[in-house]
Amino acid sequence: MKRVLIICGLAAVSLSAQTRHPVSLIVVGGTVITENAAHEILAPGAVAISGVDIVDVDTPAAIAAKYRAAEMIDARDQIVLPGLVNTHTHAPMVMYRGLADDLALREWLEHYIFPAEAKTVSPELVRVGTRLAAVEMIESGTTTFVDMYYFEEEIARVAIEAGLRGVLGQTIIQFPVADAKTPAEALTRAERFITEFKDNGLVVPAVAPHALYTNDKTTLVASAELGRKYGAPVIIHFSETQDEIRMARDQYKMTPAAYLESIAFWGPKTLAAHGVWVTDEDIAILKRHSVGLAHNPESNMKLASGAAPIPKYLSAGVAVGLGTDGAASNNDLDMFEAMRQASFLAKLSTRDPTAISAQTALDMATIGGARALQMDRLIGSLEAGKRADLIAVSMSAARQTPMYDPVSHLVYATRGDDVRATIVNGKVLMKDRRLRTLDRAAVIADTNRLAAKVRAAVGR
Ligand SMILES: [Zn+2]
Repeated sequence: MKRVLIICGLAAVSLSAQTRHPVSLIVVGGTVITENAAHEILAPGAVAISGVDIVDVDTPAAIAAKYRAAEMIDARDQIVLPGLVNTHTHAPMVMYRGLADDLALREWLEHYIFPAEAKTVSPELVRVGTRLAAVEMIESGTTTFVDMYYFEEEIARVAIEAGLRGVLGQTIIQFPVADAKTPAEALTRAERFITEFKDNGLVVPAVAPHALYTNDKTTLVASAELGRKYGAPVIIHFSETQDEIRMARDQYKMTPAAYLESIAFWGPKTLAAHGVWVTDEDIAILKRHSVGLAHNPESNMKLASGAAPIPKYLSAGVAVGLGTDGAASNNDLDMFEAMRQASFLAKLSTRDPTAISAQTALDMATIGGARALQMDRLIGSLEAGKRADLIAVSMSAARQTPMYDPVSHLVYATRGDDVRATIVNGKVLMKDRRLRTLDRAAVIADTNRLAAKVRAAVGR
C-alpha cells in the first residue's frame, strides 16, 4: 500500500512537471520582503529565477504550480529580501583594517592612510584585499558595492570572479599615487578602464575624482566630462567634514555643492558620498541635478565627522543609499550595522525617534541605494523582470526571538553573520553559509601573508 502511494506521488509530480516552466532556481518558504512600491511582504513566499532574472514572486503554492527548478533553496524560517547595496566603500582597504583608529579624517588620511598606501598599494594588495572584502560582503548579504580605489581593474576582475555586482570607480587624485603619477595619467587609466568593462553584466565602470580638497578645477571638470562621454557614473567624496567646508569657503567663497555646480560637475550620474555638512540650498542643488547620496553613518561617527541630515535629504526627494565606507574607518563591511546605525544616528542627532524608521533604513539599504545609482530598474527590489540579486537571512537566533515584525528584526536585531544564502545575477554565491565562488581559507591565508608586508612597511 505504501509503495503504491509513492509511485502515485511520483507519477503526479512528473505529469505536472511537463506543464511547469523550467527555471534555474527557486527560493522557497520564509518571509519574502519584496521592497516593491507597495512594500509587499509574502509570508510565506517564493521567488522563481531564470538565468539572471527574477521571473516571478508569489506564494510557494503558486510558484510550485507554475515552475520546476534545477536548484531549490529552502528558506523556511528565514527572511528573503533584496541583496543589500553598499553605495560607498573602498574594498581593498580591508588590508588597513585596525591600522589607525581614533583619529579625525584629516589626520587619519594624511598621517596614516595616505602614507601607508604610498608604501604598500600594488595590484597584488588590491587583488588580495578585494577578495577578502568580497568574502565579507557575500557572507553579510551585500550583492552590489560601489567602490573607489586604485588599480580598479583588479577590483573589477575580482568582483567578476566572486560574482558580485559592482559600480567601480577608478580614483583620480592630484598627487602621485601607486597607479598614476599625475591626474592626467589617472584620467587616461580611467578611460581605459571604462572601455574595458563597459559592457560587463556585473561591473559598471565609473570615474572617481577623490574629493574637492584633493583635486583642482581642471581635474574635476575633466573627470565629469569623462563620465558624460561614456554615460559612466562619477563618484566623489563630498562635504564630509567641517575642514572641507572651510577649505571651499577660503578657496572658492562657496560651499562644495555650490562650487561643484558652478563648474558643471554635477549630473544625474553623480554619486556624492557623505554630504554631512550641507545647507538647505546644498540639498536643493543635489536634488536639482538628480545627484544620489551615499550615507555612511558608521564612518562619519568613527571619524567624528558629524551627522548627515538624512531626513532633510529624504524629504527634499534626494535618492539616499547607505554605505559602510572603507573598512579602515568602520571597521567592517556589514550593511546590517549600517542600517541600524543610520537609524540610531538620525534619532540621536535630531532627538526624534521617528527620524529614520526601520523601514526607511531598509529602503535605503536596498531600493534607495539602487535609486541613488540610477539602477532601480535593475536591482533593489524583488520583482519579476529585475536581476536576481537576493539574500536569505536566518531568524532563529535567541536575539531574534520572538518575531512580531520582520522589518524591525532585520534592522534592529540582525547581523551580517545571520545571512544564509547570497544570490547575485541569478548565481548562488553562498548557500548554507558555504561560499561557492571563492576559496575562503586561501583568501584568509593570502591576506595574512600580505598583512605582514603592510606591518613591516608602516612599522607596526
Ligand atoms: Zn570613502
